[in-house]
Amino acid sequence: MHGVYQTNIVAWAFGNGVMSQSLVNPKQRSILFLVLPYMLQKAAANRVKSRSYLAFPYGVLSIATYLERQAKVNVNVEILDLNLYDLDDVSIVLEKTLEACKPEFVGISMMFDQSYRYVGAIASQIKSWNHKAIILLGGASATTAWDEILSEQSDVDALCYSEGEAAVSELLASSDPFMALQKDPWVTRESLKMMRRPRTTYVDHLNDVVDIDYDLVDTSVYSMKEAFSPFASYRKENDVRQFFMVTSRGCPFKCVFCAEPSLHGASMRYADIDAIIGHVERMVDNYGMNVLTFYDDQLLLDTKRAKELFRRLTPFKLRLEAPNGVTLVYIDDEMAFLMKQAGFDTIPLAIESGSDHVLNKVIRKPLKVNKIKPVVRALQRNGIFVQAFFVIGLPGEMDEHREETRQLIKDADLDWSGFSLATPVRGSALYKICKEKGYIKEDLGIGEIESNKYIIHAPDLGLEAEKITQQAYQMNLDVNFVNNRHMRLGDYETAIRCFEEVIDRYDNHAFAHYYLAEAYAALSLRPDAVIKNRRRFTELIDQDNDWRDYAASFGLLAEPASEPSPPKHAIS
Ligand code: SF4
Repeated sequence: MHGVYQTNIVAWAFGNGVMSQSLVNPKQRSILFLVLPYMLQKAAANRVKSRSYLAFPYGVLSIATYLERQAKVNVNVEILDLNLYDLDDVSIVLEKTLEACKPEFVGISMMFDQSYRYVGAIASQIKSWNHKAIILLGGASATTAWDEILSEQSDVDALCYSEGEAAVSELLASSDPFMALQKDPWVTRESLKMMRRPRTTYVDHLNDVVDIDYDLVDTSVYSMKEAFSPFASYRKENDVRQFFMVTSRGCPFKCVFCAEPSLHGASMRYADIDAIIGHVERMVDNYGMNVLTFYDDQLLLDTKRAKELFRRLTPFKLRLEAPNGVTLVYIDDEMAFLMKQAGFDTIPLAIESGSDHVLNKVIRKPLKVNKIKPVVRALQRNGIFVQAFFVIGLPGEMDEHREETRQLIKDADLDWSGFSLATPVRGSALYKICKEKGYIKEDLGIGEIESNKYIIHAPDLGLEAEKITQQAYQMNLDVNFVNNRHMRLGDYETAIRCFEEVIDRYDNHAFAHYYLAEAYAALSLRPDAVIKNRRRFTELIDQDNDWRDYAASFGLLAEPASEPSPPKHAIS
């Protein structure tokens, strides 16, 4: 069946000297992993023009790979990614898969809050098919809402708190799974009654999970998406073969808005460089990988290891990405040089704020503003496009702090800046603060937070949705468009690539069309593109009062730009 792949690992298990089935367990285990839908609904997708994007189910692949190599019992593993199907067909696909696979265990992966709406119906369908099937729920979003979910979902038998590899492996090896579920990292209704707080069980050494077995899925049905960059390969119409990699887990920091510390712990765990390079070699040989996306939270923290990794990656001539952002204090000249050599053309820095007060007292991030500029320079000297991420609207951040952020972006001469509205995600300290102080509604359900919607309401602190949203967007337009670094430097080619990248994602972005026309006009290139983009800008500001207001506030309406003469070939 499309999207369902069976892995019979009996031969592998015996071949590696694992005890025979009869000694461990008379029964062969079978588990079906379900990846819950998380894609935009069709209606919403039609409103925003964006490249379709379906990521590999990395978490499930990691557990399946671990079972393949480490399980002490023979296991049939199947993966059904429900994102590969129309939502209307999910129930039928699930029914057929259950009948075909007859799993004893069903592991449901919930990585995003918006998937929560599907849990009840899917779990109910599984229990209707076979009430003895053991339903497990895991993933980042399940972990951060463990108590609420188990109280609400009576068909879910247990929830895995954070990392699932070792937990699922031990569960399947157990002769009494229900007994095994009474221990960490599992959460059950019984453990909730006993008020036992769950603790995770970590995979100590990531060599066991770094070499993901992509044969477990049909790689051709996944379409990855490179992060924002003027140099993204797809723009050059390359054949992009992009894969994920997580080479470390953990983060010693405790940023107020982040749930990560509750997921993977404060201590760092790593895969060895040899294991990483071995995986890269296999991915290049077997799948022609040419873009590698790191999803580590702290890729650079062990600077010696990071430098060695980049040296060893250089010969592969891959394009590298780190869309989670990197911590800038670990970047010196040598690191910047090695990153560029290894294949990074763009680096996002997780700066978060241009105010020392906000960084240290609000976010609790050990970063000083005066450290930022030298690192940006080092990266730019090595030909790297430097982006930075900022969070706007945290309780404790005032108007003057947001102005410090705007000023920092200009002083540091960043190539591009991304702004997120502060979001109290479950599992973060910010969520607790907002709950306790009444900054968010009392009954905020799982999955109710819409992305890029500001839901904190604290007028006494100057935090109201309309104002914060407007300030963040105004800052974005100011630093990325009106005062775009590459436009100022006369590097119109890079500016064009930036604006085209924006339009590719948001065709209705009036400022991107306006400045794309300006960049082409400055180069005296493509008069057709100048006309087209100026017309599109005019259309958008005529249709949308918000765009008109923003354009007026930056003086873009004062002197209507005259259209250049059409190119000769367009007339003839
Ligand atoms: S935002 Fe990054 S640095 Fe901060 S706690 Fe989360 S993972 Fe760590």
